[in-house]
Amino acid sequence: MVSHEKALLRLLEGNERFRAQQPLLPEELSQFVAGQAPIAAVLSCSDSRVPPELIFNQSLGSLFIVRVAGNIAGESQIGSLEFAVKNLGCNLIVVLGHTHCGAIKAALSNDDSAVPPLMQSILSVIRSGISKTNDNVVATKENVVHTQQRIRTESSAIQNALDAKGIAVVGGLYDIETGKVDFFNP
Ligand SMILES: [Zn+2]
Repeated sequence: MVSHEKALLRLLEGNERFRAQQPLLPEELSQFVAGQAPIAAVLSCSDSRVPPELIFNQSLGSLFIVRVAGNIAGESQIGSLEFAVKNLGCNLIVVLGHTHCGAIKAALSNDDSAVPPLMQSILSVIRSGISKTNDNVVATKENVVHTQQRIRTESSAIQNALDAKGIAVVGGLYDIETGKVDFFNP
């Protein structure tokens, strides 16, 4: 089991390697037959430009990833994170937003005429957690913080683990232009 401090350090180091384009060699597949012990759980946007394994330069078995447009925390997402904490021993949860996020852009738009109902439900969750801003980055950060809050308030299992000081839920922003991750809300 990896502490949340060491797990976050490994992600930061991985992001540095990713930026320097020096990927690690892939690990042997056979070690994963017995199970998995990911160092972190990542709740990130579905955006194709933001694959957590690549941007943190992590290999097979390292990250337990939950992806949904706008990196919101609905029941399925939080339940998945509970599994990572309770069953897999993850001590670090990362909520990762990103610049130029289409879901945030749609949430900031006043025109929902072409938005299907289920997509609308994602925008509603995002809107419930952001201020009246037109700044995409500001809204993206607010949405990350809101997701962190929802994880804590909706999951007693995760809140209990936080109270025991064994785990951390950190918020990050991935910059699509530079490839850099900024953990702005530890
Ligand atoms: Zn996005």
